[in-house]
Amino acid sequence: MSRSVLISGGCGFLGSHLVDRLLRRSDLEKLIVVDNLWTGTRDNVAHVADPRFDLQIADAESFSSLQRFDEIIHLASPASPLWYMREPVRTIKANIGGALNLLTLLKPGGRFCFASTSEVYGDPLVSPQPESYRGSVDCTGPRASYDESKRCTEALLFEQQRVVGLDIRVVRIFNTYGPRTRIDDGRAVSNFAIQALTTGVLTVYGDGSQSRSWGYVDDIVEGLERYFWRDGISHRGPLNIGNDHEVSVLRIAEFVRSLVPGSRIEHHPPAPQDPTNRRPDLTSARHVLPGWEARTGYQEGIGRTFDWFRQRIAAGTVAAPTA
Ligand code: NAD
Ligand code: UDP
Repeated sequence: MSRSVLISGGCGFLGSHLVDRLLRRSDLEKLIVVDNLWTGTRDNVAHVADPRFDLQIADAESFSSLQRFDEIIHLASPASPLWYMREPVRTIKANIGGALNLLTLLKPGGRFCFASTSEVYGDPLVSPQPESYRGSVDCTGPRASYDESKRCTEALLFEQQRVVGLDIRVVRIFNTYGPRTRIDDGRAVSNFAIQALTTGVLTVYGDGSQSRSWGYVDDIVEGLERYFWRDGISHRGPLNIGNDHEVSVLRIAEFVRSLVPGSRIEHHPPAPQDPTNRRPDLTSARHVLPGWEARTGYQEGIGRTFDWFRQRIAAGTVAAPTA
């Protein structure tokens, strides 16, 4: 049976990798990407030459269409704290407004997939974090536009599942890095790589003892593909997807510094309400997606990401940032 799919945020980092995988589906009839190019770029999908692909430059919260879709994948939202803290209202609109609007475009019986985040756990008091952990989140703090709009969208979808039987897949993605992150995205791995390649000064916020579990993009989108459409899974979620090897920010910075002789680390004030730790409990993911594992270690994944940025800067495809 041929399927029509809409993906919001498909010009972004994760979205563009998912677009590539969606276009490998033999049952795909039509793929509409809805993106307003806020944090994504046309460049991320410029290689796509497939008649089933249709890019619509529009806000997810107001996009309209006469067409109805078998599957909707809602990714529209910045993921970088730098970007969502700059425009909190817009972030809330993208997540919650986007979900409310896109739900109206779903065919009866269609599937709605949502990219939630490990940020729903806030600054966690248990480690690793299972899906049952309710989190330690400041609902009026500087990260709330992102954390709370993800939590509210989860609430919306689970209520719709309960009340009208909506078919949902909700995934909580942990820190992911890799090629196609924008050069001014501001997240740790891309920042460190670009800084090492340009200014030679890597900015570590605070003392760098805070930790994350860093997932390489290919591993993470493999998990998303299997969960969202490939494996015929009925588990509605929420499902943690990430790499469960936890590493401090300082160790990541030191590794990137080691790739460029002469580069150095500079400590800057801590980011506001920066979570101290983050590590997924993957028990559910291993059960729901047997055989799936985020296997790429940080040295290998960062090496690949670093090479990608180096090539792009050398080719002049992206301008090196001035600071
Ligand atoms: P990204 O910023 O690279 O991509 C987001 C995309 O959404 C961009 O193309 C942007 O232009 C688009 N967008 C934003 N607001 C929009 C709107 N209102 N209407 C239409 N398009 C809009 O971020 P990413 O890292 O690719 O993250 C994608 C999704 O995954 C986000 O929902 C994010 O919260 C979630 N997520 C990502 C990570 C991660 O580590 N990358 C972790 C947890 C969750
Ligand atoms: N970080 C840093 N320097 C940077 C960017 C990020 O020290 O240039 C730190 C940040 O304070 C956090 C971690 O790296 O502790 C991960 O930040 P990121 O923005 O990648 O993701 P987050 O988990 O905060 O959403």
